[in-house]
Amino acid sequence: MNDNRINELETLALDNKTIPNHLADAVISDPTLSLLSLLNAAYNIRYKHWNNTVQVHIINNAQNGGCPEDCNYCAQAKTSDSEIEKYRLKPDEESINEAKRAYENGAHRYCMVSSGREPSEKRIKELCQTIQSIKKEVPVEVCLSAGFMSDSHAKQLKKAGLDRLNHNLNTSENHYSKICTTHTFQDRMNTLLAAKKNNLDICSGMIVGMGESNEDIIKVASQLKELKAPSIPINFLVPIAGTLIDKMTNLTPEKCLRILCLFRFINPKAELRVAAGRELHLRSMEAMAFYPANSIFLDGYLNTTGENAAKVYQMIKDAGFNIKSTKDIDALIEKHKEEVTKSPITLKTKSELRPSICQTFN
Ligand code: SF4
Repeated sequence: MNDNRINELETLALDNKTIPNHLADAVISDPTLSLLSLLNAAYNIRYKHWNNTVQVHIINNAQNGGCPEDCNYCAQAKTSDSEIEKYRLKPDEESINEAKRAYENGAHRYCMVSSGREPSEKRIKELCQTIQSIKKEVPVEVCLSAGFMSDSHAKQLKKAGLDRLNHNLNTSENHYSKICTTHTFQDRMNTLLAAKKNNLDICSGMIVGMGESNEDIIKVASQLKELKAPSIPINFLVPIAGTLIDKMTNLTPEKCLRILCLFRFINPKAELRVAAGRELHLRSMEAMAFYPANSIFLDGYLNTTGENAAKVYQMIKDAGFNIKSTKDIDALIEKHKEEVTKSPITLKTKSELRPSICQTFN
């Protein structure tokens, strides 16, 4: 019985067919569906599209804090009292240096993120300038997350050379008003549609652990399939002190892995990223995430620190995977081995948020 359902999931996903709701729900909630068998099936699909490579992304928090929106999970929201380092948009040179640093540290993609509801015309021009400069100087893919995008802004960013636009759905339409009141799910969807209309690759995912139901998770995974999202980050809530959702939820490593498998079955071809919260919620099961997922963030997240890069690269290597990079994984392990791993809910310091102006660049 179990094997039949797993075989059916694998066959449907390998053929990029729709996963029926009862099977999708079983992946997350039926303990008789063995986790190891699910991971094995998810791995077969991941291997077909991505082989054994892991894509490494490094985030640059290009502007921090002061957002007028009220996303309950976010340390930059107007409703948050989190003690984050706030700053305006980093100058061009600083972002270019951080893109160089990300590339030298093994990143395949460099993701610039700026807080705020939507960029002004002036901000779009600044971002276009920065993107052009990075593309000229650093052989790295560039992603941007900068709030809502109009058709015209998406067009300008595409012309400047942007590779991908990130805008997460975060949760289902049904659950959206419980995590934010200043904008709607449809507002987020409109940005993704504007990006697609202008031939920008979209990156969009969810944050799990904000009180959503299994049905909400399945809905988001299915909507991303409808959008044909080529890149899907799955975040597990990192409850930051001072935000409106500052308590740990009941996510377990097993549930997190089942959710990653579900996203792989529903979106077989996507670059599936195990994103924020992997250290906190997967714990000793972290390496298992590479069976469904083929992408990862390194060096922490927007305002919280991550694991020591050497530990992450060693984990990738030990699990039998390699990174998509011109850099050698052993050399990267050696380079980062002195770094210290901090607790997974530690806020980044100024030197972690702005390394190129606070440390010697190497
Ligand atoms: S719009 Fe973005 S930066 Fe602003 S509060 Fe929401 S998640 Fe945070």
